[in-house]
Amino acid sequence: MKTLRLILGDQLNRHHSWFNQVNDDHIYVMFEMRQETDYVKQHIQKVIGFFSAMRHFEKALKSNGHRVIYYRINDKKNTQQLIDNLKKLIEEYQIELFEYLLPDEYRLDKQLRDFCNALDIKTNSCDTEHFYSSRDELRLFFKDSKQFLMERFYRYMRKKHNVLMDGPQPLGGRWNYDKSNRKKWKGQPAVPNPILFENDVSEVLEDIKSAGIETIGHFEGTIFNYPINEEQAIQQLRYFCEYLLQYFGDYQDALHTNEEFLFHSRLSFALNTKIFSPKTVVNEAITYYENHSLEIDISQIEGFVRQILGWREYMRGVYWKEMPGYAQFNKLENQNKLPNFYWTGDTKMNCLAVSIKNSLNNAYAHHIQRLMITGNFALLAQVHPDQVDQWYLGIYIDAIEWVEITNTRGMSQFADGGIIATKPYVSSASYIHKMGNYCENCSYNRTKRTGEDACPFNSLYWNFLNDKKEYLKNNHRMGMMYNLLSKIPTEELKQLKDRAYRIIENPDLF
Ligand code: FAD
Ligand code: SF4
Repeated sequence: MKTLRLILGDQLNRHHSWFNQVNDDHIYVMFEMRQETDYVKQHIQKVIGFFSAMRHFEKALKSNGHRVIYYRINDKKNTQQLIDNLKKLIEEYQIELFEYLLPDEYRLDKQLRDFCNALDIKTNSCDTEHFYSSRDELRLFFKDSKQFLMERFYRYMRKKHNVLMDGPQPLGGRWNYDKSNRKKWKGQPAVPNPILFENDVSEVLEDIKSAGIETIGHFEGTIFNYPINEEQAIQQLRYFCEYLLQYFGDYQDALHTNEEFLFHSRLSFALNTKIFSPKTVVNEAITYYENHSLEIDISQIEGFVRQILGWREYMRGVYWKEMPGYAQFNKLENQNKLPNFYWTGDTKMNCLAVSIKNSLNNAYAHHIQRLMITGNFALLAQVHPDQVDQWYLGIYIDAIEWVEITNTRGMSQFADGGIIATKPYVSSASYIHKMGNYCENCSYNRTKRTGEDACPFNSLYWNFLNDKKEYLKNNHRMGMMYNLLSKIPTEELKQLKDRAYRIIENPDLF
């Protein structure tokens, strides 16, 4: 049967069962499209990364004998719209069966479902064979529960997939070593230079420019350093195991002006485009740990596995359970605008300047920069979650809605009212100082709450607690903070709030 098989840009799984056999009746299609580059303004490196990885994938399929139709962004036949491209090809090749891999974005899922319902040929959707869990697994797991605790799902996944287990018990006797994952990095141990790939992307870059795609962020020259095929992704993973894994857990929450990546793996782009699978990553890291268990503490490997087998699978499950409603949540009723400095890094607040510049330069920031610097400030400044989402979705190379929105709207902005996080991730300067050195070279005084040189995070923090009291006061994890808030003298609270509102009204002056 003449079959058209669609592969989206984040479905680059070379080991998918679709590719087990070569069949001339199977035509694979891949499109670079304005529909995808323009629905939010994207970082230039994100567009380069996706197009480059897709072009590599096309080549790999063709060299294995598969029949592939690939539309580059400037190809004449390319309508720039998914459905129009598909309709034309179905007609031109007299297709009898249309098949697609289940998208990981609700928007595309709906578009393809609607398209198939309107088609008068046979259609079929297939799993991407990438994740550990199915789309519905989390929903079924929590079907009788009021709370969806990540830790419960993570333990279930560990047992189900026999990962870091000693029979029915967790290896090492504990499920979670989160408490030992909180060291401040003070220059030692030395962070090795990151592994870089010499990918010449001049052709892709030229195509992006001549298509006139508007992007954000920076990219110098023509050499692109992220892995764009499976071989490179495996090299990056091995590099991580050999040089970074031994410190991963310890410094997971650390922040430092001199180190953009610290001991983080930078595997998220290769994972989210499905260039390789979470099973490959977890299995390789565990094998490395088992062969080096005298040098690597269990807390390091457990911390790493928890991110992938725990958080990553959990976020996807929550996404499919809660969408499309999740994208509308704004339980704290925040309405403010995202400051302009999010697009430039031009602010005197050093922690924000460093984290935003990292993001603009690399299309990357590590988790604590995303959560406790940019995310923290946006929440304290009571920015509308739609604006926060748009920024995160555009700026990071790994941002695909299923994992971006759950982390941003849920974990970081508490806009879901506590489905993902049990309390808002907000802090004053004291946490930022505890975990890093940003405050040492800042124009503001981290210890002051009022006065012109007081750290903006401090006044914003107490103001936020005060403004959101009705919503948060019964959250038992916030009890201690509300107790402290109640002890601030009225006059001082007034000064704090005045300063907070001056910042909120004019954040770009700070
Ligand atoms: P490492 O720190 O080395 O972790 C290893 C892997 O674990 C990552 O590659 C990632 O696949 C997984 N992982 C770690 N934390 C999470 C998490 N919270 N949720 C899901 N997977 C996780 N991650 C994305 O992949 N895409 C996003 O768009 C995204 N947006 C985020 C927005 C906010 C506000 C926050 C707080 C976090 C976001 N994250 C996102 C999660 C996390 O920050 C990134 O996965 C991580 O920084 C990627 O860098 P890394 O590969 O070096 O990760
Ligand atoms: Fe950020 Fe405040 Fe520290 Fe400056 S003093 S780096 S603004 S937390």
